Amino acid sequence: MTDILDRFRLDGQVAVVTGAGRGIGEGIALGLAQAGADVVLAARRTQEIEEVADKIRALGRKALAVTTDVMQLDQVQRLAQTALDSFGRLDCWVSNAGGADDRVPRTLLEMPERQWDFQLNLNLKAVWSGAQAAALIMKKNGGGTIINISSAASGKASPFNGPYAVAKTGVDNLTQTLSSELARYNIRVNGVSPGPIPTEVFLEFLKLEEKDIPTLGKKFGIPLGRVGDPDDISPAVVFLASSASSWMTGETIVIKGGHT
Ligand code: NAD
Repeated sequence: MTDILDRFRLDGQVAVVTGAGRGIGEGIALGLAQAGADVVLAARRTQEIEEVADKIRALGRKALAVTTDVMQLDQVQRLAQTALDSFGRLDCWVSNAGGADDRVPRTLLEMPERQWDFQLNLNLKAVWSGAQAAALIMKKNGGGTIINISSAASGKASPFNGPYAVAKTGVDNLTQTLSSELARYNIRVNGVSPGPIPTEVFLEFLKLEEKDIPTLGKKFGIPLGRVGDPDDISPAVVFLASSASSWMTGETIVIKGGHT
């Protein structure tokens, strides 16, 4: 019988993580590498992903930083092909890049068209284009896993953050449809939906500072008493990339400290 913890190992796998330069994406990339995967890191800021690549190499895994704007379809396609060309395979694709453009809270009434388009392109369209680029390679190579980072904002009213919630609600639906269309190619598609995690974009959007972090659990009424950390998310991604979840597709795991 296979050891239970061995079923979570990712040795020999090649994973792509978008938005891997900091925050949740960096945590996911490091988690996948600790579980044994080689990792291709994508984001627009080259220096950030180069620094994360160095941390992964220090863990004894291979890493490649590929400067990518996930809102450009051709760059997403090039990212998938670069992973295949550089490491000879593509097993796992994590669509994590997301967030806001100018990080200004607005009602839908005040929303300029540009902000609507930006949010939907970054948070929803790029998840589709990433899945398409990855799956076209995976289906020729025996399968793989696609993991979409959603948000606890999905599926409910989100005043001052409307387009983001619309996009993340769409991500959950995309996860379901992709899972159903890609199962025949042995490609599993799942999601992870985090609650509040005080990353750069989060603090800026809510006009908070690092020093506020210890008080945020209480401020947001989170039953487990604290906000999240990227390390709370990466174990779920490792699980979804691994054979431990081999009978699971089309699901989104919610991780939010009991927050409602
Ligand atoms: P972050 O701003 O700390 O990091 C975002 C990463 O995405 C960075 O590496 C950035 O360079 C990259 N990125 C942004 N736009 C990009 C683009 N066009 N092309 C390529 N890369 C791009 O954000 P985070 O808080 O770590 O969020 C990561 C994901 O988690 C997002 O999808 C976000 O919606 C989701 N999420 C975050 C929280 C939270 O509270 N922080 C909660 C729920 C969901």
